Amino acid sequence: MGAGLYLWDNGLFALDSIGALAGAVDGAHEAPAVEMRTRSGKTLMRININGEGRPRCVTILRNQLIKALVNAAKDAGVELVTDSAVLAVRPEGEVHFGQGRVHTADLVVVADGVHSRLRDSVDLSYTRIRMRQGAARIMIPQSGGYLPAEDSVKLLESFHGSRRLLYTPCTPEHVYLAFTCDADDPAINGSYVNTAEWSRSFPALAMVLRATEGVPVTRWDTFEYVRLATWSRGKVAFLGDAAHAQPPYLGQGGGTAMTNAVALAAAVSRPGLELPDALQTWERETRPGVERTQRTSYRMRLLNRVPDGVRNPLVRLAGLTSSSANSQLAATRLRPKLTSENPKNPKNPEHPDITKETQ
Ligand SMILES: Cc1cc2nc3c(=O)[nH]c(=O)nc-3n(C[C@H](O)[C@H](O)[C@H](O)COP(=O)(O)OP(=O)(O)OC[C@H]3O[C@@H](n4cnc5c(N)ncnc54)[C@H](O)[C@@H]3O)c2cc1C
Repeated sequence: MGAGLYLWDNGLFALDSIGALAGAVDGAHEAPAVEMRTRSGKTLMRININGEGRPRCVTILRNQLIKALVNAAKDAGVELVTDSAVLAVRPEGEVHFGQGRVHTADLVVVADGVHSRLRDSVDLSYTRIRMRQGAARIMIPQSGGYLPAEDSVKLLESFHGSRRLLYTPCTPEHVYLAFTCDADDPAINGSYVNTAEWSRSFPALAMVLRATEGVPVTRWDTFEYVRLATWSRGKVAFLGDAAHAQPPYLGQGGGTAMTNAVALAAAVSRPGLELPDALQTWERETRPGVERTQRTSYRMRLLNRVPDGVRNPLVRLAGLTSSSANSQLAATRLRPKLTSENPKNPKNPEHPDITKETQ
């Protein structure tokens, strides 16, 4: 899909652990800062990134990430089959395709996105909240003329009422824009954004917005929040948006999905752990961090529900303390427990009982 993506430390770590990092970040943009701004371009909050001791965040094209994942999978000997919709999965490990084709697997990992139908095929109970807001995404060519040079390289999020406009340089050729608003906001007309309307909201970005005239929206997504009662049933594990979708205010849905996939792989690879125990261990160790990320991003919707006169001073105040940035960045510090750090490792003194079992 033609759109950009933020990859923070946690997602980068996940990619590195499967050998996909170099391909994913080749030519990616490394901005000096993320800034939250008023509609007229005043900075309310700034988080410095990508320097010594700072959080790392690269912005890339989504299709580059997909290609890097495909290459890493092929290098690992994975057989990839596309155009092959799964109709149902069963806790015993059965995967049902069309025309009565059934495969049986030791472990079935379901990552079929926020609209997952396979969740229902194993009768999982879950909470799914369709939010009032969503986003339209557009790519425009990179140009030196949109913004002053020092701003053009930053990741900028500007607010006006219930609208947000995200400006993201991705490659030397591409800028990714996300227009976030209520689903019934007339500023998005079918497949086009109403440039005049968005320019009225964000006069400081008028030059950027001019470049969107006549450019069709890549796609519109209404934001959702999903919470499963349990992440697995029998031999079937769920992850990514199918299991823990979140609104993209933190840019963490993909990062969380990838980190959790690596955590699952590590848990089921621990020697001596049977599948049911491995799946329980995975969920116990990973779920609290994933849900903290979901809660933070879900809470951030509230910034769209207050007038500028209330939000701007609040965000400015939050920018003066480190706690707000810290809660936003907590997800970026999450790391899956890899096999070498596993609790059964005899060198791990924190788990002497398990160590004994292993020996
Ligand atoms: C506006 C917006 C901006 C975002 N920005 C960021 C960001 O900057 N950084 C970030 O980390 N995340 C971001 N996200 C979130 C991120 O896109 C998702 O969290 C991520 O794509 C989830 O990955 P997934 O693999 O779980 O699901 P998906 O990416 O939805 O993939 C699911 C796949 O399963 C396939 N599928 C579905 N049903 C079946 C079936 N029955 N059989 C076979 N295949 C099936 C689909 O075709 C699809 O390819 C953003 C989301 C939105 C809406």
